[in-house]
Amino acid sequence: MPDFVEVADRVWVARYEWADANVTAIGSERGVVVVDTHGSTAAGRAVMDDLRRLGAGAVHAVVNTHWHWDHAFGNAAFREQDPDLPIHAHERAAAWLAERGEETKARWLEHPQDPHAAEVAETEIVLPDRLFTSTRTLDLTDRAVELVHAGRGHTDGDLVVRIPDTDVVLGGDLVEESAHPWIGPDSRPLEWPATLDAVLALIGPDTLVVPGHGVAVDRTFVQTQRRELGLIAESVRRLVHSGVPRQEAAAEGAWPWETDDPRIANAVARGYGHLGAPAR
Ligand SMILES: [Zn+2]
Repeated sequence: MPDFVEVADRVWVARYEWADANVTAIGSERGVVVVDTHGSTAAGRAVMDDLRRLGAGAVHAVVNTHWHWDHAFGNAAFREQDPDLPIHAHERAAAWLAERGEETKARWLEHPQDPHAAEVAETEIVLPDRLFTSTRTLDLTDRAVELVHAGRGHTDGDLVVRIPDTDVVLGGDLVEESAHPWIGPDSRPLEWPATLDAVLALIGPDTLVVPGHGVAVDRTFVQTQRRELGLIAESVRRLVHSGVPRQEAAAEGAWPWETDDPRIANAVARGYGHLGAPAR
């Protein structure tokens, strides 16, 4: 069972093996703010157990950095403890979870041999209820926590969490350390680089950046990831502009990652769609 490790003043991160997911606990006089809830109700209960062992106080609020299952499917476990617990998220994250949550669960049932399939099937999807569009500040008396939607990228409803008094930024999946950032069918690869520029404005030379997956990183790491995503966006734009057919784009383009990485195919599909290129 992973322990919550204090990475900065009253900021603890637990890194769970399943999906290599990070859950962050932010301590305050008002209680603990939990950022992301892992991938099922059972997994969320395990997070609650780990929080109890940490002993930093009762949970005051939950934040979902975006709608993906490995960040939001544990929500029900927190509501079991407190039916009125506020769950904060971007309005688009709540919309996606409402529209696609059950479909995501159903996809797990296509792989019944997966050791986590049953617990995902049993998960009740609980939607965030405190929604915002651009920014929100959580006033925790002795500290403030800022939720910032810096633009579209990994999804169209990502938020980053900034804890100004201790110079920590939680990047959600706009930044990943243990793998390349995931470009999926719901990503906005052409907008992601500019979104990371806005996130970088919140990151100083000494800021600790906790990614959605993997160990904490720094400004230089985020700049590198921004450059890679920028290369992908520029490559897609160039291919569309040159009239390269969509099916040849992955082979023709210049990419910072392996050409057969599914992220590249998704970036091409999303980018061509975004730019209105014909599906030749
Ligand atoms: Zn994600």
